[in-house]
Amino acid sequence: MSSLTNFIEPAIQASYFVAAALFILGLKAMSSPVTARGGIVWAGVGMLLATLATFLTPGMGNFGLMLVAIAIGTTIAWWSGKTVKMTDMPQMIAIYNGMGGGAAAAIAAVEFARGDVHSPLIAALAALGALIGSVSFSGSCVAFAKLQGIMKKTFTLPAQNAVNIVLSLATIAIGVALVSAPTPDATLVLAFFLLALLLGTIITLPIGGADMPVVISLFNAFTGLAVGLEGFVLGNAALMIAGVVVGAAGTLLTQLMAKAMNRPISNILFVPMNAGGGGDEQVTGTMRAVTALDAAALMRYAQKVIIVPGYGMAVAHAQHKVWEMTELLEDAGVEVKFAIHPVAGRMPGHMNVLLAEAGVPYDKIFDLEEINAEFATADVALVIGANDVVNPAARTNKSSPIYGMPILNADFAQNVIVIKRGQGAGYSGIENALFYGENTNMLYGNAQPMVGEIIQHVKAMG
Ligand code: NAP
Repeated sequence: MSSLTNFIEPAIQASYFVAAALFILGLKAMSSPVTARGGIVWAGVGMLLATLATFLTPGMGNFGLMLVAIAIGTTIAWWSGKTVKMTDMPQMIAIYNGMGGGAAAAIAAVEFARGDVHSPLIAALAALGALIGSVSFSGSCVAFAKLQGIMKKTFTLPAQNAVNIVLSLATIAIGVALVSAPTPDATLVLAFFLLALLLGTIITLPIGGADMPVVISLFNAFTGLAVGLEGFVLGNAALMIAGVVVGAAGTLLTQLMAKAMNRPISNILFVPMNAGGGGDEQVTGTMRAVTALDAAALMRYAQKVIIVPGYGMAVAHAQHKVWEMTELLEDAGVEVKFAIHPVAGRMPGHMNVLLAEAGVPYDKIFDLEEINAEFATADVALVIGANDVVNPAARTNKSSPIYGMPILNADFAQNVIVIKRGQGAGYSGIENALFYGENTNMLYGNAQPMVGEIIQHVKAMG
C-alpha cells in the first residue's frame, strides 16, 4: 500500500507539471490565429490531465459529489459554447472568468471554515486570494448582467470613489483580523466575504459602455492572481502556474486594450466614460445617401480599396459576403486590403477571427499602425458597421470621451463608403463627423444584404 502511495504522489506532481506545461504551450499557440485552435485543445488536455490527477490525491473523498459537479459544469459549458453567438462572447468570458474567481475564493472559504490555515503566511495568502477572487466573481457577474442586457443602466453612488475606498479599507481590516485570529471566527469569515463581494459589485456598477471589455480583462487578471494564491495555499503546482499564466496574460491584455482606447486603467475604474456629461461635439452638415450601385461602381473602377470592418459586420454575419466581394474586386484588378482596429467589435481579435473564418488570407489583414498611412493613397475606404474606430473626434475634439484613442484614418481616403443601418451611434454613444464628410457616401442597410447587392452590381459590370 505504501509503495503505491510512494508511486502516486510523484505521479500526481508530474501530471501537474505536464498540465502546467500544456497550459503555457496552449497559451503561446493562442497568440496566432493560425495555431489558436490547436492551442485551445492543448490547454484543454492540460486541464483534463490536472482534473484526473486530482482524483488520485491521497485522502480525496466525495467522488460522487465531484462527478455531479463536473457533469453539471461540463453540460452547461458544452451547451453554451455550442450556442453562444460571436457577438455575445464578451459576456460569456465574463461569467466563466467570474466562476474562476469565485472558485478561488471558495477554496479560501473552505480552508478558513475548516481552520486549516495554520501558518500566518498561508493565512495571509488565502485571505488575499479570497479578496481578489470575490471581487472578480461579483464584478464579473455585474459585467455579465450589463452585457447581456439584464441590467440596462449604470449606477453611480454619491461620492462613489470615497465609498470604494472606505469599503476597501473595511474589507482589508477585517481580512487582517481574520488572519491574525488564533482560531477562525465564523462571523469574521462571513463579514470578510460579504464585504469583498459587495466591493466587486460597487466598483463595477458605474462602469458602462465601451469600458466593459477592459474591465472583464482586468477581472480575468484578478482571477488568475487569486487562483495562483490559492494554489500556494493548497500546495498545488498546476493551480499556481495556471494562475500566474492567466494573471500575466490578463494583465497584458488589459494594458493593450486600455492603450488602444487611450484610457488609463485608473480612469476606466474610477472615471466612467461620459461622467463629465458628454463632451460630444455638435456635428453639422448633411449625410449623403447613395445606392449599392453607386458603391459598386466606385469600388469596381478603383485601384485601391481599404475595408474597415466593425461591430456591425459581426452582428450582420457579413464576413463571408465581404470576402466574396473582395475576390470579385481583385479579379477585376482592384487592390483590396483590410484595416483592423485593435478594439473594433466587442473583444480583442474579434474582426481577425471573423475574417479568418470567412477565409480572408492573413496577408490581406493589416493592423492600425501598418495601414494608417495608406488611407491617403486609397480611392475608397469601405467602412462596414464600424463607427467609433473611425471617428475623427478622437483626433480633433479634446472634450470627446474618445479623444486620444488612435483611430483608422478612413476619412483621409479619396472616397468613403459607410454601410450602416441608420443614424445609430457607436458603442461610446457619440456622433461621428466622418458620416457628414464631403467625401463620404452613406449606404444605409443591414451589412449582409447590402454587400450582397454590391456583389450583384459588380458582377453585372463584368
Ligand atoms: P461601434 O462603434 O460599436 O459601431 C458599430 C456600428 O455598426 C453602429 O454605429 C451601428 O450603426 C452599426 N451596425 C450595427 N448593426 C449593424 C448591421 N446589422 N449592419 C450594418 N451596420 C450595423 O463599432 P466599432 O467601430 O467596431 O467600435 C468598437 C467599440 O467597442 C469601440 O467604442 C471600442 O472602444 C469598444 N470596445 C471594444 C473592445 C474590443 O476589444 N473590441 C474593447 C473595449 C471596448 P446602426 O445602428 O446605424 O446600424
